[in-house]
Amino acid sequence: MSNQHNHVTQSWTGGGGSFGILVHGGAGKISPARQAAHAEGCKRAALAGHEILKRGGSSLDAVQAAVELLEDDPAYNSGTGGSLNEIGELRLDASTMFGGDLRSGAVCDMTPFRHPIAIARQVLEANKTVLYSAEGAAKFAKEHGFEPVTDGSMITDLARLRLAETMQGASANWAGGTVGAVAFDSHGHVSSATSTGGMMGKPIGRVGDSPIVGAGTYADDAGAAISCTGEGEAFVRLCIAFRASLWVEQGMPVTETAMRAIQMVFDRTGSRGGLIVASPQGLLGFARSTETMSWGAAWDGGSAVCGV
Ligand code: ASP
Repeated sequence: MSNQHNHVTQSWTGGGGSFGILVHGGAGKISPARQAAHAEGCKRAALAGHEILKRGGSSLDAVQAAVELLEDDPAYNSGTGGSLNEIGELRLDASTMFGGDLRSGAVCDMTPFRHPIAIARQVLEANKTVLYSAEGAAKFAKEHGFEPVTDGSMITDLARLRLAETMQGASANWAGGTVGAVAFDSHGHVSSATSTGGMMGKPIGRVGDSPIVGAGTYADDAGAAISCTGEGEAFVRLCIAFRASLWVEQGMPVTETAMRAIQMVFDRTGSRGGLIVASPQGLLGFARSTETMSWGAAWDGGSAVCGV
């Protein structure tokens, strides 16, 4: 890697207390006018998770609370306001993982429900199947008391406009907004969660990295918690979330791990994105190769911070 051009456009390190959370609001290119609100939303989400961690709560609850908040915010590509597929439908992907025992839960290509991450969490708690798709995901959700929502009520005018632009080839088919969170708690456990509508204009049935354990999301107390964002196919091909956790397990510092992963995605596939890391030793870090990736963080002993 050393003799190749460096494609990492930003990296960051934080944490250091006995609990902490780092949230991303998607790698891509957010317009300057939207950047401050995007970053503030990530900070609010980090603070929601921080509240839970401060009371001695689990990292798994913290990442879910953070992601649910962003799923409700139409500014992000998850839940309400998520990207639409090529025929204008909202089909949602989400996953979550607990590093203490490797339990994980995910849903993909799922018809609209308000909080896909809560359904992924329920899949994790059931602790049998890891990933439910399409009708199976909706059936599981309904059986566990989640109310389906009509397609229209979670689709925003902005998402429709973006789809029209994408289908006319006017812009790249992704522009930021997938959400994710990684956290460590005072019990020494790490967790991660990722939620998305996927790539704008995605083919029917297309599933990216976000709901794939090992690709877009991973958590292992022996390594780290990881959530990815970017051109998902590349993250799937490289199993990048698992690789990053393994590098931490082998002793690599968290920010160097994020940088190496993002550089590898570019060098091996030409794709771009971002990745956030939380280690059970209490460190947080991220790297991106895109123009923006909104983020927010809060930890024991530090004040909440955010950026784009
Ligand atoms: N990684 C997501 C996907 O490929 C998109 C994104 O992060 O913006 O579905």
